Amino acid sequence: MSIADKSSKLQESLTGQTPQQLFAEVVFNIPLNKLFHYNVPPDLRELLTPGMRVKAPFGNKVITGFCVGLTTIPSVYKTKDLMGILDAFPLADETMLRITKWLSSYYCCGWGEAIHAVIPPVVRRGAKEKIDIFVTCGKPLTSLEKETVLQSKKRAIKQVKVLEFLFNQAQNTEIRAKDLMKATGGTMSMLRQLERENLLRLEERQADAVNALKGGGASRQHLALSEEQEAAFTLIKEKLAEPSQGIILLHGITGSGKTELYLQTIAKLLEQGKKALFLVPEISLTSQSIQRIKERFNNVAVLHSHLQGAFHYAQWKDIKEGRVDVVVGARSSIFAPLKDVGLIILDEEHENTYKQENSPRYNARDIAILRATYENAMVILGTATPSLESYYEAEKGNYTKIVLSKRIGTLQLPQVEIVDMLEEVRKKRGYHVVSQRLEYYMKQALSRREQVILFLNRRGFTPYIHCKRCGFVLKCHRCDIPLTFHKKLNIVLCHYCHAEAIPPESCPDCMANYINYRGFGTEKIEEVIAKKFPGYNILRMDSDSMRSHGSHEKALKAFEVGEFQILLGTQMIAKGLDFPNVTLVGVISADTMLNLPDFRAGERTFQLISQVAGRTGRGQKGGRVIVQSFNPRHYSITYAAAHDYEGFAKKELEYRKPLNYPPFGRMARIIFRGASEKNTEEKASVIAGKLKEVAKESNNQLQILGPSPAPVMKINNLFRWHLLMKTKDHQRIHDALLCVADTLKPTKGVQSLVDVDPYMML
Ligand code: ADP
Ligand code: ZN
Repeated sequence: MSIADKSSKLQESLTGQTPQQLFAEVVFNIPLNKLFHYNVPPDLRELLTPGMRVKAPFGNKVITGFCVGLTTIPSVYKTKDLMGILDAFPLADETMLRITKWLSSYYCCGWGEAIHAVIPPVVRRGAKEKIDIFVTCGKPLTSLEKETVLQSKKRAIKQVKVLEFLFNQAQNTEIRAKDLMKATGGTMSMLRQLERENLLRLEERQADAVNALKGGGASRQHLALSEEQEAAFTLIKEKLAEPSQGIILLHGITGSGKTELYLQTIAKLLEQGKKALFLVPEISLTSQSIQRIKERFNNVAVLHSHLQGAFHYAQWKDIKEGRVDVVVGARSSIFAPLKDVGLIILDEEHENTYKQENSPRYNARDIAILRATYENAMVILGTATPSLESYYEAEKGNYTKIVLSKRIGTLQLPQVEIVDMLEEVRKKRGYHVVSQRLEYYMKQALSRREQVILFLNRRGFTPYIHCKRCGFVLKCHRCDIPLTFHKKLNIVLCHYCHAEAIPPESCPDCMANYINYRGFGTEKIEEVIAKKFPGYNILRMDSDSMRSHGSHEKALKAFEVGEFQILLGTQMIAKGLDFPNVTLVGVISADTMLNLPDFRAGERTFQLISQVAGRTGRGQKGGRVIVQSFNPRHYSITYAAAHDYEGFAKKELEYRKPLNYPPFGRMARIIFRGASEKNTEEKASVIAGKLKEVAKESNNQLQILGPSPAPVMKINNLFRWHLLMKTKDHQRIHDALLCVADTLKPTKGVQSLVDVDPYMML
């Protein structure tokens, strides 16, 4: 009998009453949607609040779980005692508990898994708040006094170095003691000695709390809004004043001043004492807009994956404890512990990066809407190319649509010309990656000292290596994927598992010397362009050339100041860039996305061309876009060239409607993966069979497609099969998945991954 039991027995015998017991509802980080009840011993009662982590016996182990609620009615007759509490304050507040509960139900994962996923690892580890020492100059000295101090006989050389260093920086500039010692060779005891002499000041404080919030600090004024912006802003303000503020789809063409509107809306909101969440598709690619936010507001926290432990933790606490007004970050920032959220902005709402590709496979756009409902906040979905999902909701009247149809000032959208590459092949006899038109306009732009952006969504030198004699294609031995040749590194690389090998000189299969390196990636384009345009500097930006942290910002800065005339890159350069001197954009191939086995292929192509085209015509010199394609008459390309989003959306919806694809229907995908091909196929068939039985009872309201091998049949030595579920009403997917929940558990080394509202189809 435990002590608690003994004491309650004792109390019972004394008073003749059972004291009310308290039970904690606990979830664990396991793929199981189940609550476990534990008795809360009296000594823990005062301390425990839902949202804290607890230690609890589970099987014959003690593991960490999350307390998600307290109750006086246990679900089972016999409950075990909680063993301890790990946190002094709840890591997840009430809203976050509600959101994670929804996540687990909607995306089919454990509630504990969902909570685990939304609390940053550094917070779970409970990073110690790191103390740092900062140095500033002591009492102000005249130059003569400085001279005397430096020349004093008792000064050690290193002391002199420290002082010289400090005297050389402006009064009140502060430097970390660590950095100062590194720069001068001084020691801590030396710094303390100088402090006693009043020659410098030392201050100990939490390293990051200050830095975390150091922005440009509201140094810039808002711009006077254009007429169109003003009308939009008036509407936004009206909505803000309504009790239920709703969702705004801000459809503004590239360069129409969406960002300025976001900023002024945030300002309005801060006036009301509320806070804002600003989501961007990818932090490292949006440095220009982040800079603009930091220049307008104090107390901006930027969350990104490069934050160091202690810093990240300090920032998280700053947010949680109300010291931050605006949080900027990528997808996972939607879970930032910000209180009094009045506004959530998703910039470039159509971007795939808002979808998380491992469990829980959530879409930050949907979570934003959910969170806003719980917290009575407004959501602004901003984009030049709305996702069909958001467009459709706006058409139905569920979102308020605001359109910005003009660029700021007198700027026009660039003229887009499509080059038929098949025609080009005929004309020039053979395939050339740069068409005559593109070459012509490049020459013109460069000779006028303007800049050019070239876009190709494929990195490496050549993406395809095959034997001309036997047809053998060089593939990764772990993945069902052709290897890409990277010339500079002289390797062939798998873009899925990163395996690399030495490039073959003869066919590994038939030994013939007919090995052929086909196709082209950014590395090859760089070589071709360098030959065609000697004397111009080319900046290549892709995930190969931009490995190190901060390299984006540096590269873009160099392009901005004109060190490079040609910027060549992958989707990394498609978004957000604003360089007035870029007067020509060339899309080397518009077809890379178009041929993917994915119902969104057309949408992606349209978005990409529109986004890339938006990188030019941003200055008084105007702009032009050349799009090269083997499918020049495909509607995604022609509508993008005509800057006709509405036309595209209507056509795309016409195509999706009879097939019941989103936004008309809902989908879920189950991927099966395992080391044994046979077991993987078997598992896929068993589950597909069960789901088809459920589907039959639904009167065809639920469709099961497949199972079939996934388009990429093997990744990292794991075979992959998949099936798709399609329905008009999400609840059916949910119910069907519940019916097979037990069967979905891993068996014979085969996992089943459920992806609700999938974006990845490969
Ligand atoms: P978007 O986010 O729609 O691409 P931006 O907000 O980046 O558009 O605006 C495009 C350019 O126009 C930026 O250089 C921005 O500083 C400028 N701009 C935006 N609004 C105004 C305004 N009201 N007056 C003057 N310039 C503006
Ligand atoms: Zn591989």
